[in-house]
Amino acid sequence: MEIVRSQKKALHNDAVSTFPLYRSAPPLEVRLEDFELFAIDRLRVLKGISDGLSRGKKPEEMEKLVRDMLKANMGHPEASEVVNKDIISHFVLRLVYCRTEDLRKWFLSMETALFRYRFLQLKSAEAQRALMAEFDLPYKAVSNSEFQSMKDNLGQAARSIGQPLPTADAIFYMVPFEEVPELVAGRRVFVHKGHAYVAMNQVVSLVATQFRSHLSKALILTNRKWTSSIREQEKDRLTPIVEALCTSYLGPDYSEPREFAEISIRDIDQIAMSSFPLCMRHLFDKLKEDHHLKHGGRMQLGLFLKGVGLKLDDALAFWKAEFSQKVGAERFDKEYAYSIRHNYGREGKRTDYTPYSCQKIICSAPGVGDHHGCPYRHFSEENLRAALGKMRVNSKAIEDVMDKVRSRHYQLACTLTFEAIHGTSCDAGINHPNQYFSESQKVVQSKNHSTV
Ligand code: SF4
Repeated sequence: MEIVRSQKKALHNDAVSTFPLYRSAPPLEVRLEDFELFAIDRLRVLKGISDGLSRGKKPEEMEKLVRDMLKANMGHPEASEVVNKDIISHFVLRLVYCRTEDLRKWFLSMETALFRYRFLQLKSAEAQRALMAEFDLPYKAVSNSEFQSMKDNLGQAARSIGQPLPTADAIFYMVPFEEVPELVAGRRVFVHKGHAYVAMNQVVSLVATQFRSHLSKALILTNRKWTSSIREQEKDRLTPIVEALCTSYLGPDYSEPREFAEISIRDIDQIAMSSFPLCMRHLFDKLKEDHHLKHGGRMQLGLFLKGVGLKLDDALAFWKAEFSQKVGAERFDKEYAYSIRHNYGREGKRTDYTPYSCQKIICSAPGVGDHHGCPYRHFSEENLRAALGKMRVNSKAIEDVMDKVRSRHYQLACTLTFEAIHGTSCDAGINHPNQYFSESQKVVQSKNHSTV
């Protein structure tokens, strides 16, 4: 993206003083750090929408959620930069999400949902009409005489969806019915001779369809440009950022234990039962059963345990107690102890490694004999049902979890499991195994206190 400062003002005005339509990439200069930071902020909003929708939030709840998320994430210390941040973040995420069919589909749905809620937040009909004009929609408003001739039918349609009867100054658009499928399917409009009569308060469906179709085409073009015409040098610079954004974890860092400072080996069996998420519980059980885990499993569980507060000496004792039953104490000291010290930053480059996020675990690809990964993503349906049963998730909740798994909302499936086991809601959703652990400990400890 090149940048020309003088065009910024025009760009701001062009935003119809509401929000931009992202017709073409702006000629703005973008610092590499803003490139990434702005995109992460927008991603938080889109992921929030995705979670809200798949949790089945009602339209009013969604409107509030979007308003709050925009307020929390899309502001800028300089008011004049807010629109530019909006535009830049959208175009960066286009690059990130144009690269596969699945990514495009997700981005398209979330951006369209965002557009829809923002459109609904435009309080006046003038502001909505101004935005409609930007799309150059070919639909004409119904004339007064047409309105009079079908007033009763329009009134009936309005009544059936709990809307007041249209008055003489009400605006309706005559639209080919196939262009507003959701209104027709929901019987929310009067249809006559192949046309749907769309009231002003329903035009969001029309503009959202237009927005979606523009963006869908643009994503295909961006993908083509990204793979063919972008300069190699530029691509080398951007590729690591683009790839990292795609699997980025947006929550807090769990490399240090948080509220529940330390755990000791003495308590670990009990804590695993009460507070480990399924991915870690599975690894823990397999380790106890086989007295061995392959590299991927040792990393996933080992870093998690570090994050929940298992000190290095205890970690060495814990792994040795299991592994020595299979490979002997001497071989453990020689071949395995090093990598545990390494995870704690005591060997090699002395990097303090961070526990894996759900996103990273879900994207991993466990092979035969591996036990790492996310069970919601990597288990067969039969194994997942059995594992949930073992965690005492009731059968109704198991069906809800399987539903989320089928629609590939693995973290939501995990959130529902958490809620079923702990008997309390987890509004933030599960994004990290260590977050699951600390949320669980909060519940367990408050229950313990209330029974003392
Ligand atoms: S959603 Fe996250 S915490 Fe839950 S099982 Fe999968 S990886 Fe583990």
